[in-house]
Amino acid sequence: MVKLPDNVVFFGPPGVGKGVQASRLSERRGMVHFSMGDALRGEIAEGTELGESIRKALARGEFASDEVVLGVLEKHLDRGGPVSGLVLDGFPRTIVQAEKLEEMLRRRGGELSRVLLLDAGSEILLARLTGRLLCGHCNKTYHKLFKAPRREGVCDGCGEELSRRDDDCESVQLERLNTYRYLTEPLTSFYRQRGLLDVIDGSGSIEEVSDRIDRNLGDI
Ligand SMILES: [Zn+2]
Repeated sequence: MVKLPDNVVFFGPPGVGKGVQASRLSERRGMVHFSMGDALRGEIAEGTELGESIRKALARGEFASDEVVLGVLEKHLDRGGPVSGLVLDGFPRTIVQAEKLEEMLRRRGGELSRVLLLDAGSEILLARLTGRLLCGHCNKTYHKLFKAPRREGVCDGCGEELSRRDDDCESVQLERLNTYRYLTEPLTSFYRQRGLLDVIDGSGSIEEVSDRIDRNLGDI
């Protein structure tokens, strides 16, 4: 029997690019990218009872509860989602979720072998998080670092002035980063103590970060 690649958890602060990296990794290695954010949005779109409770929590600015996210993952696995070669992104966020994840995988003959924390300094993350620009006239979007307009502050398409989205301002994003670090600190320690955690430098280009991840994972 062909040995399937192991299961990997990806986590990291907003702006570090973990969604992009999780999807690149799964493409390169034939793994399955499971994004909890996408799965939650899928539930909402289906209009299920679960979806409705998720919608309410998110509208209140809260994270979905342990019970809800675990229910969503269990549903995915019960529908025949693989228990090997998973790249989990945006999950787990709490120790309860982390413990239940392993229990769920084990019950189905799978196991969690690696946890990668993608991280970068707050300055880099803030520059990425606050760099989005929008043309209010034709709705074209830009990014100061990744997709700059030809002329600073001016829309390439229609020549109107570009603006920043309100929730992209520095203080809001800094608050988001700090909240993230505060909330996930216990999870980082939990995985570190168990010898599963590797920290990957998330600064630099998408390709550079991809290469670091590849080298870290070796031949799993
Ligand atoms: Zn425009």
